[in-house]
Amino acid sequence: MDRQDVLLETTDLARHYPLTRGLLRIRSGSLRAVDGVSLKVRRGETLGLVGESGCGKSTLARCVLGLERPTSGRVLFKGREVGEWERKDRCRRMQMIFQDPYSSLNPRKKIGAMVGEPLRIHGLGARRERRAKVAETLGLVGLDPEHAGRYPHEFSGGQRQRAAIARALVLEPELLVCDEPVSALDVSVRAQVLNLLDDLQERFGLTYLFISHDLSVIGHISDRVAVMYLGRVVELARSEEIFKAPLHPYTEALLSAVPVPDPERAARPVRLTGDLPSPSAPPPGCPFHPRCKKALDVCRTTPPELKSVGERGLVSCWLY
Ligand code: SF4
Repeated sequence: MDRQDVLLETTDLARHYPLTRGLLRIRSGSLRAVDGVSLKVRRGETLGLVGESGCGKSTLARCVLGLERPTSGRVLFKGREVGEWERKDRCRRMQMIFQDPYSSLNPRKKIGAMVGEPLRIHGLGARRERRAKVAETLGLVGLDPEHAGRYPHEFSGGQRQRAAIARALVLEPELLVCDEPVSALDVSVRAQVLNLLDDLQERFGLTYLFISHDLSVIGHISDRVAVMYLGRVVELARSEEIFKAPLHPYTEALLSAVPVPDPERAARPVRLTGDLPSPSAPPPGCPFHPRCKKALDVCRTTPPELKSVGERGLVSCWLY
């Protein structure tokens, strides 16, 4: 990957939270939410991040946006350490879309005021120009500019998420971090919001880091997919490769749970036994081994590295 094309890069990124016990708050260990993640995101691409709840996807997103300080490792945005960016500059260039538009929008503020707020905070344009920009942005996301005077409760779930997207877009950012942006929406509305994100990307050359626990959603929107398990990336490949022939047994299990709209093809779900282990006490060796049906002896003692499998991508598994 050409360095010039890379908009976002993480190198060995880790975020550990100290665990304490007793009144004296004696350190008893650490919770490894993100544990050595190296990723590159090209300009204009969508990198999907998929994994079960609690695998560290959202913590990774918060580190990328500079909202969390990494315990170790680096996050570079446009070749510069994220922590070195002025907060205002960083916010202009990177924005986030949250899962639940109902709680991410202030119920006491009108949609127009909320979408225009970032422009006001950043001192961009006079009042009339800001109002015009808000109307233009609402139009871009498929909302009627006339609705700027309405409150969030007067909108449907899909319309509220469109308003949240408008607020993220109004500063014309380069990177959008989308954290489960369609999980709270009905299935029919999901497709509309995903198509809207697709259109906006094509029109403005946006780059997305798209987080979801749902591989079918990730497959719809992503160019490449990184599969996370217990704070680590276990497989990374182009979206079509992941769907055609997943390599890692965990990816295989996630994929087998995606419903297939074909009555001729019987679903054969790969059942995962047990829960996701605690990130404060990850199993030794391969962290997936207690749930893996293909585990070898070496898997119980030695963690596999994330290795290149030719053109296919990267996988962290002793089978390859
Ligand atoms: Fe399963 Fe071993 Fe591969 Fe881990 S390294 S996914 S335990 S086969």
